[in-house]
Amino acid sequence: MNQTVRPPKQAIRIGHSACPHDCPSTCALDVEILDAHTIGRVRGARDNDYTAGVVCAKVARYAEREHHADRLMHPLQRVGGKGSREFRRIGWDDALDIVAEQLLKAETHHGAESVWPYYYAGTMGLVMRDGIHRLRHVKKYSGFHSTICVNPAWSGFAAGTGKIAGSDPREMAKSDLVVIWGTNPVNTQVNVMTHATHARKERGAKIAAVDVYMNGTMAQADLPVLVKPGTDGALACAVMHCLFRDGKADWAYLDKYTDAPRELEAHLKTRDPQWASAITGTPVETIEEFARLIGDTKRTYFRLGYGFARSRNGAANMHAALSIAAVTGAWQYEGGGAFHNNNDIFGLNKSLIEGTDAFDPKVRMLDQSRIGAILTGDRDALRGGPPVDALFIQNTNPLSVAPDQTLVKRGFARDDLFVCVHEQFMTETAEVADIVLPATTFLEHDDIYRGGGHQYIMLGPKLVEPPGECRNNHDVVAALAERLGAEHEGFGMSPRELIDDMLRRSKRGTLAELEANKWIDCQPPFEKAHYLDGFNWPDGKFRFKPDWPKVPFRSPYTSGPVDDMPVLPDHWNVVETADAEHPFRLATSPARGFLNSTFNETPTSQANEKRPTVMIHPDDAAEQGIADGDEVVLGNRRGEVRLHAKLFDGVRRGVLIAESIWPNSAYVDGRGINTLTGADAVAPFGGAAFHDNKVWVRKA
Ligand code: SF4
Repeated sequence: MNQTVRPPKQAIRIGHSACPHDCPSTCALDVEILDAHTIGRVRGARDNDYTAGVVCAKVARYAEREHHADRLMHPLQRVGGKGSREFRRIGWDDALDIVAEQLLKAETHHGAESVWPYYYAGTMGLVMRDGIHRLRHVKKYSGFHSTICVNPAWSGFAAGTGKIAGSDPREMAKSDLVVIWGTNPVNTQVNVMTHATHARKERGAKIAAVDVYMNGTMAQADLPVLVKPGTDGALACAVMHCLFRDGKADWAYLDKYTDAPRELEAHLKTRDPQWASAITGTPVETIEEFARLIGDTKRTYFRLGYGFARSRNGAANMHAALSIAAVTGAWQYEGGGAFHNNNDIFGLNKSLIEGTDAFDPKVRMLDQSRIGAILTGDRDALRGGPPVDALFIQNTNPLSVAPDQTLVKRGFARDDLFVCVHEQFMTETAEVADIVLPATTFLEHDDIYRGGGHQYIMLGPKLVEPPGECRNNHDVVAALAERLGAEHEGFGMSPRELIDDMLRRSKRGTLAELEANKWIDCQPPFEKAHYLDGFNWPDGKFRFKPDWPKVPFRSPYTSGPVDDMPVLPDHWNVVETADAEHPFRLATSPARGFLNSTFNETPTSQANEKRPTVMIHPDDAAEQGIADGDEVVLGNRRGEVRLHAKLFDGVRRGVLIAESIWPNSAYVDGRGINTLTGADAVAPFGGAAFHDNKVWVRKA
């Protein structure tokens, strides 16, 4: 990191921004600007009532990342073999010429669909993240079926409500019981804890948490409910069983607002706490206590996270947990209801950013999570089309974060595959690229963000100059478009013009107004947010019986065993069940210091996280002859990973937790944790079951 002399306090300017990282909190930031090139501390904006002055530690020390000595500064061309890490510096024009030439070559050989623009959420800025679509739409390159993150969770939520929106997240502070289910906001999206603990201090509210290990959030909960991975549906069913059994179901609400309450009650008769306990590993008394707490608390706010949906039955689990709020009628009360994400409230028209007018539905869409199978020529994954011969990658690091890593590595090792990576650091994906281009961070370009976990649209203006020769995503896409003969109005516009255009088309004001006001509060009125004017279906009724293939979700096709999905909330046993060969279930939960593979490079995160470990129950460890700190091997049919054991009694027997994502190079044998995760498609619309892995473990 550069050594910086801090100017006197009165000379430090504060710039306003928004956190661009892949975290639903999208915190409003106050950034110290020390000079035109240098930032100081980053704080949460106090005047934003969701961020409320709090950000996570890794972003508070963002200067460590922004001014890191390892930032990519110049375009590079690989001169050694793939993975040799031998590059030479070249000029931007030469680099862009080579990329364009290779994309055109691929197009000539196997058609436009043999080029795959591949991106993801390294930035959540709408201009810098989504502009790549404009290039692929105009050029008819293969489409990107985005599956790695939200699909099971969002489809499970929309299966009930009909859209992705819920009670105002700030209402958590007015709740009497906040249920934090399958997310660890002490590690990620810290603001959930801000509002939940506010309710506890001001109103004596209780916090209940459901998770697969005793993480930081579970430790702070009044009632931690520890389950085995992939069993949340069983827990939810048993809770609803108790609510019906004990007269805590709100029948007036159920009759008015739900589709099949009597069928649900009858269906749940056999799903009692004893049944659920055998599946979840949770004691019957804890399930009863959880149900009692929910049944006795009208203002219960269900804050439903992503983690518990990253399972082959994830969408069904999300829908089952969501259904509890409909049984109690918690939606009727301020501080009650459910929330997962606010995607559907913003109504943003991104037509110029994404070039949607050039979209051709006949062009194939390739599943992001199946990149290993795609690059290795799996016909099903290629959807019967040509091979992928060229990748243009922005904001993502599939060699580390994508499932089925062995296959991903094999794919990237192909000599006939051209890869360009536009990145901030030399990631493991960049290391195997032919051309590496240096990218700006969010502080070095203009962009706009919308909350996932809240209701604000926020501006993130350029605050400092980019170092070296870094260029932003939009400029690189536009420069490539010019060389590729791709024409669209959006390529000729600046990021600020694109932002202004989107706001105007969306009837959300103008860029000038957003600059003056810093953010736009898009919170729908109470009646709408709580679905008191009906859920988002023609009859207005919450669906206990979803029509899974027809759930409103942006997906080009259904995936996985969608026809076998449960008719009513249930434990859907399609997970990788432990067996004699693989007696353990592994979840790869997020580490506090990393965000996917972002922050892998910062010294404080590395120091705090220490080394890749796997948590194992002491009794399981003893049976395997494993002591704390031992090197162990985890394995399944997809591969093997070496890391160190950490004995921990905050997991159920038979469950392993490997907090992630460490770089592959941090593991003893260079194989990262995603060597063990599968890329088979999750129903109903794809996804990656990162927490649903059967494995064996032995001492190395
Ligand atoms: S909590 Fe999430 S959104 Fe907020 S600063 Fe940290 S990573 Fe960014």
